[in-house]
Order: sequence, then structure tokens, then C-alpha cells
Amino acid sequence: MANFKVVIVGAGVVGACCARTLARCGAEVLVVDQGEAVGVRGGTAAGMGHIVINDGDRAGLQLCKLGRSIWRDDCPEIAGADGFSETGTLWMAEDDDTFNELVNSAARLEAEGIRAELLVGKSFHDAEPALARDLVGGLRVPEDGVLYAPVVAAAMVDQAKQLGATFRPRVRVSSVESGVVRLFDGNSIEADAIVIASGLNALDLLDESGIEVPIIPREGQLAITARGTQVLSHHVVEAGYQKGAHGEVEEAVACAILPRSTGQLCIGSSRRPRHGAMVDRQLMERIVARSDRFLPGISRLPIVRCWSGTRAATADSRPLIGPVPAQPGVWIAAGFEGLGITQAPAAAQLIAHSMHGTTSPIDPRAWDPARVMTTS
Ligand SMILES: Cc1cc2nc3c(=O)[nH]c(=O)nc-3n(C[C@H](O)[C@H](O)[C@H](O)COP(=O)(O)OP(=O)(O)OC[C@H]3O[C@@H](n4cnc5c(N)ncnc54)[C@H](O)[C@@H]3O)c2cc1C
Repeated sequence: MANFKVVIVGAGVVGACCARTLARCGAEVLVVDQGEAVGVRGGTAAGMGHIVINDGDRAGLQLCKLGRSIWRDDCPEIAGADGFSETGTLWMAEDDDTFNELVNSAARLEAEGIRAELLVGKSFHDAEPALARDLVGGLRVPEDGVLYAPVVAAAMVDQAKQLGATFRPRVRVSSVESGVVRLFDGNSIEADAIVIASGLNALDLLDESGIEVPIIPREGQLAITARGTQVLSHHVVEAGYQKGAHGEVEEAVACAILPRSTGQLCIGSSRRPRHGAMVDRQLMERIVARSDRFLPGISRLPIVRCWSGTRAATADSRPLIGPVPAQPGVWIAAGFEGLGITQAPAAAQLIAHSMHGTTSPIDPRAWDPARVMTTS
């Protein structure tokens, strides 16, 4: 790939992973972003950072599995504790029906070779003593983890730079077509290959080509407690959360609490079909109240910050990863909804294999953009 110039539009976690992967393949990589630094805008700046196997559908599970294994084996070394740390996920059931869902989930994970263990009674409460005593049980997925995406994305781009890549901040792209990236300042950048990794804004960049990319905003709100409040070791999530995660309901609030390496608890989460903007206090109260049901007392902890972010979702809940129809030399990696941090390094591998015409470790057809992208 020597002298093969690739421009990546977007320096969120997906663009950062593409940058490192393609630089490692020998491409001359240029990453551009409208923001002032890597990972400080968009979903990457707003996300929780849970690296999780979501077993909602088999293709998505494969993407999570590959992404998680790359984060586990090849996350940049970062001073402090912002890199990948293995906390495990503890899915919690408050009644027998949801516990039965976890039993089914355990079977699906086992069939895919993913370590998971059902916990009931004492073993469940010993795993997380601070959780409500009336919970029926849970499913522990010990190899899941957490990372702080803005810092990790910046470290990925640094690794790409060591291989000759360049990052240009404050560059706003207006459109993309085969061989050329056009900027709002009137300039353009020529490239052999272009990767659109601009999250929600992937919509706008292909407007001039008459391509309609169906990406839908889905807002999420989070809060973070003060340091020294961490009473959990796992990322705890209520079973049933995945219904909201998959967009099966219009508006959803579910308990997801992530212990941060800073001694804080990140509390979520919600899903609504809209752009994230101001924090909605009433919604935040519902999120905290739901968390209090599973972790009694959390509502009395001091909260130092609340924020809202936007997930970029697709109508079929699958990301778009692969070549853009009718635009040779243009690829897209966008629409990851609530799993983009987990899946980003896997998506980067799929893009690299597609660019090289080589066989990827997992079947890429489930994410082929041609399934939903239409030319008007
Ligand atoms: C509340 C919330 C919680 C989440 N929790 C998790 C979680 O626990 N685990 C998980 O795996 N995922 C989680 N996610 C999802 C995850 O954060 C996203 O899927 C992921 O960050 C998307 O990354 P991205 O690189 O595709 O897009 P983004 O992070 O949005 O990056 C896109 C980049 O493109 C740039 N850009 C856009 N338009 C242009 C333009 N015209 N010109 C130049 N640059 C442009 C932007 O500035 C931005 O930097 C969460 C998301 C939210 C909102």
C-alpha cells in the first residue's frame, strides 16, 4: 500500500481505529476532523466506555467479540487508568422472567465461546455486595471491560502518527466523492481512498452524490458521581437494557452503572429518538431513580456532572461498514448506536480487508452499506 493515500473524515474512536489499522497496512494516512483534537466531539466524547458483548443478534455479537478481543490485546498503553481495564459485566435480573432471559443469553454466549457464568443467591451478592438484596440473580461476563474513549482514541492516532500518519484538526468537510474530499473553506483534498467516519454527520457528506444514508439520532443522558464514591467492581446493567439498545422501544430508561478508574460511578442510561442537547432534569431523575432500584443509595451520592450525547443509529440497528455504493474508493464506518466504542477496532479491520480485497476474520455482509444506502 506504499504511496496509497487514505483520507479519514472524523477523528472519533472509529476514525482513530481506522487510522491505526490502515497506517499499519502501509497506507499514507491523513485524518481530518472539524474539532480541535481527537475524540473530543460526537459520540466518542459522550459515551460511557463499556466494552461489552451484546448478544442481541449473532452478527452484532461477532463484531463485539472481535472488537473486544482487539481492545483486550492491543489497546494502547496509557499512563493512569484510561486504557482497557477488565471489570466484567454483571447483568442483573429483578425477577424470574428476566433471569430466564439471562439463562438464554448465557447459552448464546457459550455457543460463541464467550465466558459467562450465571450467579444466584450468595454467589450473586458476593460478586457485588452493594446491590439490592431482592435481585434474583445475574449473568457475569468476566472478560468485558471499560476504557475512556477520548483518551484511547487520541492514543490510537498517536500510534498511527508514529507510522507516518498526519492529523489535521479544525478541518470541516463539506462533501465526499470518489477521489476527493471537499472542505467548507473551498479547498479540497485528493485521495486514493476515503473513509467516512464522521458519526452522525455521515448523512451530510454524501448529499451531493444523491446518496441517502439513513442514520438516525438517538439521545442518551449520563451522570457521573464525585471521586471516592465507587462501590462496584463490575459494570452492572439491568437485564432488558438491550431492548432499548436495539431500538425496539421509542423511549427507554434502564440501569447501567460503570465504575471508572477515577473512583467515580458513571450512571446511565436513556434512549430517545432525537439529538442530544440540554440535559433534561426530569429524565435524569428517572435514570437515577432506576439506578437506585438496583444500587440502593446511589441517588444520595454527589453528582458532579450530567451530560447528553447522541448515538448514530440505523433503521435496522446494524452499523454501515464497507464500500459506499456507486462511489469507488469511498468507504463508510458509521451508525454504531450504543456499541461504537466496543466495535470500532473490528470495523477498522473490516474496512482494511475490504480496501485490500482480502478475507476478513468475520463475514462482513451483515454491515454492507448497500443493504440500505440508496441513490436518489
Ligand atoms: C450516552 C452514550 C453512551 C454510550 N456508551 C457506550 C458504551 O458504553 N460502549 C460503547 O461501545 N459505545 C457507547 N456509545 C456509543 C459510542 O460512543 C459511539 O458509537 C461511538 O463513539 C461513535 O464513534 P464514531 O467515531 O463513529 O463517531 P463520533 O465519535 O461521533 O466521531 C465523529 C467525528 O467526526 C467529526 N466530524 C463530523 N462531521 C465532520 C465534518 N463534516 N468534517 C470534519 N469532521 C467531522 C466529529 O467532529 C467527530 O469527531 C455511547 C454513546 C452515547 C451517546
